[in-house]
Amino acid sequence: MTEATTSSGGRPNLPMQGVYQPSRDEVLNLPRVHISSHPVMAHKMTALRDKNTQPPVFYRHVKEIGALLAYEATATLALESVAIETPMGPMIGERLAGGIGVTPILRAGLGLAEGFREVIPDAQIWHLGLRRDEQTLEAMEYYNQLPHRVDLQVCYAVDPMLATGGSAIDAINVLKRRAIPRLCYVGIIAAPYGLLKLSQTHPDIDIFIAALDESLNDVGYILPGLGDAGDRQFGTF
Ligand code: URA
Repeated sequence: MTEATTSSGGRPNLPMQGVYQPSRDEVLNLPRVHISSHPVMAHKMTALRDKNTQPPVFYRHVKEIGALLAYEATATLALESVAIETPMGPMIGERLAGGIGVTPILRAGLGLAEGFREVIPDAQIWHLGLRRDEQTLEAMEYYNQLPHRVDLQVCYAVDPMLATGGSAIDAINVLKRRAIPRLCYVGIIAAPYGLLKLSQTHPDIDIFIAALDESLNDVGYILPGLGDAGDRQFGTF
């Protein structure tokens, strides 16, 4: 993908202006990309996108979509056998083998992480603060509460909007330094541009999203999208 420059060779004020973007069709069949096809998800997505949906309801939908995505993204987790006693006698049951980590990218990832906790209450939550520079759209780390000793089978980086891919790529870079056996990215809406970038930069991770949209506008917002996922969750317009 090419970066745009002005005629004088500098950066344009609108960071995505003139930047080539792949179409939906070009990224629909990328390896390890999972796009939800569940009708309940589609139903909730419409309520989420609607501009009349107010922050408390919007947050609840993000959380519920997070729980549905968690259910889909955990479908292939490893299990181990465990001996238990039911009221009727002994049996060999199964439990998740190794811990589960969830890394919400602050602040928009918080609602999604809550949805994950509904499905896996004992998941460890590792907060990571990445802010994107409005001019360059590059991600900058400002908060990191990741433990140094880890014993996880998988960690999910969660952020609702996969726009240019910058934050997602950086979050996975940070998590890769912790030597976790399996990493995944979970988001609500992806733009083809960011999805392709993330998939090409980190071909060894699984990517789970609820919807694939059309494109990015000149300032890097997803179309048709839902606006600013952080502002809409927390009412900061
Ligand atoms: N972040 C958002 O919250 N919304 C977008 O459309 C893109 C990035």
